[in-house]
Order: sequence, then C-alpha cells, then structure tokens
Amino acid sequence: MTVVLMGLPAVRGGRPTLDGRPDTPELVDKFGRVARDLRVSITEKCSLRCTYCMPEEGLPAIPADELLSAAEIVRLVTLAVRELGVREVRFTGGEPLMRRDLEEIIGGCRAAVPGTPLAMTTNAVGLEHRVRGLAAAGLRRVNVSLDTVDRAGFARLTRRDRLTSVQAGIRAAHAAGLAPVKVNAVLMRETLSGAADLLRWCLDEGCELRFIEEMPLDADHEWARANMITAAELLDVLGARFALEPIGRSDPSAPAETWLVDGGPATVGIIASVTRSFCGDCDRTRLTADGMVRSCLFSDQEYDLRSLLRTGASDAEVAAVWRGAMWNKWAGHGIGAAGFVPPERTMGAIGG
Ligand code: SF4
Repeated sequence: MTVVLMGLPAVRGGRPTLDGRPDTPELVDKFGRVARDLRVSITEKCSLRCTYCMPEEGLPAIPADELLSAAEIVRLVTLAVRELGVREVRFTGGEPLMRRDLEEIIGGCRAAVPGTPLAMTTNAVGLEHRVRGLAAAGLRRVNVSLDTVDRAGFARLTRRDRLTSVQAGIRAAHAAGLAPVKVNAVLMRETLSGAADLLRWCLDEGCELRFIEEMPLDADHEWARANMITAAELLDVLGARFALEPIGRSDPSAPAETWLVDGGPATVGIIASVTRSFCGDCDRTRLTADGMVRSCLFSDQEYDLRSLLRTGASDAEVAAVWRGAMWNKWAGHGIGAAGFVPPERTMGAIGG
C-alpha cells in the first residue's frame, strides 16, 4: 500500500513477512546483522533550517495526534530494550529540544530501562537552559551538529544566526557532566576551508569532532555525488595544519574511522557514509516521530507501530511487527548503484 501523509510518501505494510527468520527475540536481518542501536525521532520541528536538511519553511507539520506521545515513546523504548535486545537509545529529530516534554520522555525511559545509555543528537540551540534538567532526568550523552565556527557561514548555512547559542550549549553540556560531547559536521564545499578552524575549536573545548560525508537526504534533492567532499579531500585540508595518524575504528559497527591529532590523545573522526559505507555492519533500527519503524535510513518501507499501540495491541504483537520489519532490512543504501532513488523522507523527517 502506498500512502501519502503530511506530504511524506511512504510504503506502509501491514505485516512484514517472517519467512526464514530464525526463532530469536533479537532484531536480526537476512544479512546476519543484529540491530542494537535504536534511533528515536521525537519531532519533525527544528530551530534551524540547514540547507542540506530542511526546506526554508520547515517540514510539513505532523498533526499533534499523529505524533507519538511521551508515554508511547517510553513504551516502545522499553519494549525494544526488554524484548528486542536494543542496548543504546538515541533521541533525534528534527530537533529534540523542540519538544517541551523531552525531560519527561528521558525520565520515563530512564525509570523503565535504567541501565540503558540514553543519548541525544541536537543542534544545541537553547541547550544551555535545559541541559542540567536533561542530565538529571537521565540523559548521558549528546552529539551536537555543528558544521562551522564562522558566524556568518553558520548563519548562511542554517538560515539562523545562532552560533553563539550552540557554543554556549556545548559548554553547558560539559558543565553538566555529559561526556564525551561529540560534534558532528557535514562535509560540504562551503565549509571545507573552515574545517581546520572547527577542529581547532573542538580541540580547545574538549569535544570529539567527526566529519560526515553528505548523504542524499536533503529536502531540496540537490545532492549530487560529484559535489561531495570526500574523506580524502578533507584529510588533505586538515593535514596541512595538523599531524594526523590513522587509528581505524574502535569496533566494526562504529561508523567513524579515527585519526590521532598531533600525537593525541585528541582524535578526529570521519564517517565516510557514502564512499566507505558501513552498511555491512549496521546495527541500527529507527522509529519516526509519527510512530513508524524503519529498518534503514534509505528504505521507504515502514511499519506502523503507532496504530498498533492505539488499537490495543499487546507488546508481543508490536514486537513481532518490529522484528519482521528488521528481518526485511536492505543490505545497504545503494548510493551509486544503478537505479538508486533517494528516500521520500528527508533526514529531518526520518531522524538522523
Ligand atoms: S544506510 Fe541503512 S544500512 Fe546503511 S548504515 Fe545507514 S541505516 Fe544502516
């Protein structure tokens, strides 16, 4: 069935097929991977309008009654950890800070699955005012999206002049004891000349910086492989200012390859998601803000858990659909393969 909801077309199946699936509670797929890392998008709203992620006017709003409630999110996270083998949970968006009940969501998850690390990907705008409360509720780590420390460049790229708020948010996260604070920067031609300045700033602030190759998940569908900055180009730029020594990946499913900077201990990472894809070791499963389970960033095949929750399904029934969704996960994104089509939902609508 193909449906078009809030301008976001997706293929939504009722029940995924389980043919050939081994009898295991975990989220296994046909390629031998096991998903243990849950990404939960909790809103499509954002305080910035990064050109590679969102259209200027923002994403179409999800009607309030289609958004998962705090209680529904807590129920699904609890089920994922207790029944499906998920070991780490990361809240994303949109921008998670746009939800006023973020503390309630995190506190509820912390109470339900106390040993599970809870993390958040954020743009850090306004974080300084909430990070203490979030840490007290149970948030353990933040990854901050920051592409440049040039104020004018930041304002151009995000269409908002909020760099100082982001930097204050990062400092406040450190002060609140969230560690490590990781900074994620998308590799773009516009910001490449400032990449070494960004690394310098992160080193001075005690942040772990990772650069990420841009993926075709932009709202304007302007991504083109020929325009991409590759890891090799970035290494040339950084190498002109810093001594870089490759140390590889800490574990096979970790997306970043890392380099020691100036002899260490500080490092810089590169997530070469397009040119050196790590799909073969992918351990992710995703929930969208409107309650769909999605096995891969690039697959438009979604399964509707929200409707199951709201029609009285048991945890066992919800878990069965989730397992089936992941059993049918694709091998990988296929960027560069003949016939590749980017997903209908943009990064901001899936959750990064
Ligand atoms: S593209 Fe899909 S399979 Fe590849 S790493 Fe991302 S989510 Fe995993």
